[in-house]
Formats: sequence, structure tokens, C-alpha cells
Amino acid sequence: MRIAVISDIHANLHALQAVLAAIAADDVEEIWCLGDLVGYGPRPNECVALVRERASVCLVGNHDLAVVERLDLALFMGPAGTAARWTRSVLEDDARSFLLSLEPAAWGEDVYLAHGSPRDPVWEYVLSEPAAATAFADTSEPLVLVGHSHVALAIALDDRGVTGGVAEGGTEIDLPGRRHLLNPGSVGQPRDGDPRAAWLVIDTSAARATFRRTGYPIELTQAEMRERGLPEVLAARLAHGA
Ligand code: ZN
Repeated sequence: MRIAVISDIHANLHALQAVLAAIAADDVEEIWCLGDLVGYGPRPNECVALVRERASVCLVGNHDLAVVERLDLALFMGPAGTAARWTRSVLEDDARSFLLSLEPAAWGEDVYLAHGSPRDPVWEYVLSEPAAATAFADTSEPLVLVGHSHVALAIALDDRGVTGGVAEGGTEIDLPGRRHLLNPGSVGQPRDGDPRAAWLVIDTSAARATFRRTGYPIELTQAEMRERGLPEVLAARLAHGA
């Protein structure tokens, strides 16, 4: 089976549409979403509706929880708080009830999924080797998938310890023989220096994972953000992937 893993869409509809088109051309059978469908970006209702329709697994992220009033907005500083407050004001009932139905972690026989980390699925970032070692210790599944940091990451655990780091587009990971922690990166607000939308394909029969990047019309999302009066810094950062 081929599974596409997406995360941190952040209401960037043009990025999501480009990724869904690339997924459709890639013979993928299932889409899994690791959360943060909304927050920061200009098209929250449309992004929730698309993910709800296409994804067979969907987690909830910290921004989603803030927007549906499960987290205190005081925890979101500056532009993130401004955008979350705006999203609350425009979120429709359908989108709200879908986000309220989701959990921040899920697991199956061979895979554990969390928005943040297994220890703290809502808030913790897994960006360092020690944090990855803790994530491996807290789980037993061979594959751990996380989002939240907006940085595509491939970290492996074997007899020699924890190795790996940032995964550029095109990186291929052979899964057998080691445990892996993978972060697909962010669809809607990449922070690893590559402004293209990030996602991941897992091919279970080939036992391989491939990191993908897909370009999209960034200027259209930026124009929508400016029209809605969202903070300029959030629009500007999309061009830099930072
Ligand atoms: Zn996020």
C-alpha cells in the first residue's frame, strides 16, 4: 500500500490543492494527516473540508485546538495568536465539529502517529536526537510519524543509536532493519528553508519512504492573507520557507 502523509497545512489552500494533485498523480491509496489544518493561513474552512473528505486518518494539532477553544489563546503569542483569533471568528460549524472530533495521537500495529511527540502529542517538538531517542523509548512501533515542527526530518534508531536529521525533498529511506521517526514537514508553512509544500510517501510493499516537495503559487496565498488583514510577517515568511 502507498500512503501519503501530510501535516501542518495551516489553512494554506493553494499549497494543499497542489499537494493533493501531486498525490492523485502518485498512485496513493490513503492519506494520513498529522494535524494543524488551520491557524496562520487564510482559507481554514476549505482546508478542513478537503482534508475531511480525503484523509482516512487525521490528528488534531495545537492550532486546531486553540481555534475550537480547547486551548487558551494566551498560549499563542504575537502573530500566531492574532491569526488564531481571526480563524475563530470565521470558522464554520462543520469545520469546528470535525476538528473537535479529532485526537492528537493514534496508533496501529506497526505505526505510531502524533502531532507533536508521543510524550506530549500537542506541544512537544521533536527536532533533536535526544528528543527522538525519547520518542523511540516511549513507543514500540517500528515507525513513528510526527508533525508540528514544520521541518522534514528522518531519524533512525538501530544498535549504534540514533542518527539522521533534516530530510530534503527526494530523500529516500529504506525502512527494514531499523526503527524510524519521520516528519513529513509542513504543507502550508515550511520552516526548513525550502518554501515548497512538503509531504511524504510511505510504500509498505517496497518498505520505503520518500520525502516530496511540491511547488505552489505562494503569491496567491500571500494575497489572500493580506486581503484578510492577517499579520504581514506570516505572509512574508512563506516565500522563504522559514
Ligand atoms: Zn503547525
